[in-house]
Amino acid sequence: MQGIDILAVQAHIKKLAELGQTPDGGTSRLSYSEAWQQAQDFVSGLMQAAGMTVERDAFGNLIGTCRGQNQSLPYLMTGSHLDTVPEGGSLDGALGIIGAIECIRSWRVNGFKPLRTVKIVATVEEEGTLFGVGCLGSRVMAGEMPLEKLVQLKDRSGKTLQQYLSAQQLDIAAAGAARIATEDIHAFLELHVEQGSELDISGQPWAVVTDIVGIDRLWITLQGHANHAGTTRMDRRKDALVAAGRLVQEIYQNALDSQGLYVSTAGTCCVAPGAVNVIPGQVELAVETRASQDAVMERVYQNIISLLQGIEKQYGVKGAITRRSTTPAVSLAPTMIKEFEKAAHKLDMAVCKMPSWAGHDAKIMAGITSCGMLFVPSRNGISHSREEDTRWTDVEKGLQVFCETMQCIASGR
Ligand SMILES: [Zn+2]
Repeated sequence: MQGIDILAVQAHIKKLAELGQTPDGGTSRLSYSEAWQQAQDFVSGLMQAAGMTVERDAFGNLIGTCRGQNQSLPYLMTGSHLDTVPEGGSLDGALGIIGAIECIRSWRVNGFKPLRTVKIVATVEEEGTLFGVGCLGSRVMAGEMPLEKLVQLKDRSGKTLQQYLSAQQLDIAAAGAARIATEDIHAFLELHVEQGSELDISGQPWAVVTDIVGIDRLWITLQGHANHAGTTRMDRRKDALVAAGRLVQEIYQNALDSQGLYVSTAGTCCVAPGAVNVIPGQVELAVETRASQDAVMERVYQNIISLLQGIEKQYGVKGAITRRSTTPAVSLAPTMIKEFEKAAHKLDMAVCKMPSWAGHDAKIMAGITSCGMLFVPSRNGISHSREEDTRWTDVEKGLQVFCETMQCIASGR
């Protein structure tokens, strides 16, 4: 039996990172760009070399198929995203695609013929860079993006999704054909870098993901009173920024005290009128909370409401909260977690489990099928950066478990 060729994986990931490489060594491979197109051609070549047939679905997701002996069985799908953030790293997304292709290649060398068909997808627009909607390719596959939503999408320059698709000889009106019927798919597996520092610090080479956190995004407005910054006595002010500063500090402290139960971030702060000689009259904050339990997110939300009420009294301001978007946490399929455990047991490796604090295609695919995810460490917890890095010995171990799991599921066992 020949194992995973980690040197080939390494070389292919390096090559992929060169497609869209920026002068300072990062990779900007935005969806539907020329670099992305080149990356699709490169991945397509690798899929074909591994004996797969390749097609592009109606939305631009690239799909390689390794035909199973029993065509009537629902297929196993795996893969990850081909797009990167601007100035991104080499592993985010790429690892899940290249790693899965290496599994199929090794099966071919070893003469393993899957009973169940296996598909590898290189999804488009997972990062949400173009239109502000993450996991767009998988949302279309999962049937979450009806045409009326798709036609509204525009990038920052006003270029529409429709125009992007037309340039790819794709018709937005036909994008719905990329939808996967629940009965056709058996499971979806994704191999990904952790993008945090848990595994790097604990020294674990890989982990099974148990949940993908929910995200609650709030817009908070604090209305004070804009006035002259010289003539208004300190005790007569209604300074919206001072009130907002206090609120941010309280939200931060509570999240810190939760000891890892949840994270909260005030990511933007708009101050109006915004002049050095005017007391801030209004502040708008965007606050995001992530937790692997919806009940925790709800509790944090209620807590922020009561914090705001206290701050209104203390600073004489008026507060308002709008819940812009709430995406619930998703538990990955217990059956898939068990499959990873079984594979680890067979390979005599210890199992570590953790939640994912970032969103992934697997979170969307969980809406239509059983999903499993496996993480390998991100060195120093760095991702979405050209410094993204994972020890190849860790990639090899994680990939061994991932391939064993794929093989077991593909065997129809
Ligand atoms: Zn990713």
